Amino acid sequence: MAIAGQYSVETDSRSIPAAMQAAVYRGVNDVRLETVPVPKIGPGEMLVRVHSCGVCGTDLKKISTGSHSAPRIFGHETSGVVATVGKDVTEYRPGDRVMVFHHIPCRECFYCRNKTFAQCATYKKVGCTAGFEPSGGGFAEYVRVMDWIVQYGTVRIPESVSFEQACFVEPVNTCLKGIYAMNLRPGETVLTIGQGPIGIILSVLAKRAGATLITSDLYPERLKIGSSFGLDLTIEASRTNVVERVRELTQGRGADAVILAVGGNSLIRTAMDAARPGGRILLFAQTQHGEAVIDPAAICVDEKALVGSYSASVDLQKESVGFVMNREMDLERLISHRFPLSEITEAIDLAAHPQPSSMKVVIQPGSLWEGTQQ
Ligand SMILES: [Zn+2]
Ligand SMILES: [Zn+2]
Repeated sequence: MAIAGQYSVETDSRSIPAAMQAAVYRGVNDVRLETVPVPKIGPGEMLVRVHSCGVCGTDLKKISTGSHSAPRIFGHETSGVVATVGKDVTEYRPGDRVMVFHHIPCRECFYCRNKTFAQCATYKKVGCTAGFEPSGGGFAEYVRVMDWIVQYGTVRIPESVSFEQACFVEPVNTCLKGIYAMNLRPGETVLTIGQGPIGIILSVLAKRAGATLITSDLYPERLKIGSSFGLDLTIEASRTNVVERVRELTQGRGADAVILAVGGNSLIRTAMDAARPGGRILLFAQTQHGEAVIDPAAICVDEKALVGSYSASVDLQKESVGFVMNREMDLERLISHRFPLSEITEAIDLAAHPQPSSMKVVIQPGSLWEGTQQ
């Protein structure tokens, strides 16, 4: 069982405890480690023992703004092992290594027919929970996976791929959706502002689509990590004027497309200025409603287009799974910090206040995995 057994973990359904540890959201900026019941599963459902769950910007937003009612258990970039399966589940059995999506659309309603899956009512219903109002549940030892997710939103992890690599399937899908939204043509020049883990994934995917990449970030440490993924044309935004430098590199025109992978609204103007007339600007991290300053003539006269993209697309599931599981990108290398559930507060704090050398933060309900591989 050399490679084959490397990441396999057996689970005996009789050994499932009645209670587990979970990080419970109790209100704005209040997430606590609590003991909660292990979720019960029904017919067609599965219980998955969580190995790794990425901390996502949208989790941080929900926790810091109180946009969702409490209590909830967040976490939706989940990979782990099937612990037990409900009646009628034939596709999976205990011990199978899987990653699970938390949102899967119906594919039949008005929005699905128009391919705006994120607006579908079934899509908005969350299909994974560790208790309370379903909210992903990955920040817990076990997660209940509901029937439509078992059918359409569960992905088997090949034995040669780690749980850590696999927990990137959902974020990669959301990035791929953003790349398609820009309609990149081979040979186009793309500027990505922000080289956190998502900015790096977006840049690698844009390059894969045939674009020439320029990346910028305030921190040289991040640009260096980006370079290790083949993103060599970098701008250190703390020293160099990004818009001027991009124009220099593009015969004075500006980038054909600009990806804004930094939250908040303060860089929207920079992103628009760095795009050439007729160029596209992808707002990828602007998840909060509010007001922003936009130059209307840049859109009307200069014909620049603002493009948005949010969440994952079921149409891109196959491609994103292939990208991750075939290791087209060594995504594990983007993980800079791994925290046990007991350090959930530190994990959220670090993810919310990224340091120059911090990248992806993942939660690993550790005690269950002693002696096993990542
Ligand atoms: Zn996410
Ligand atoms: Zn639908």
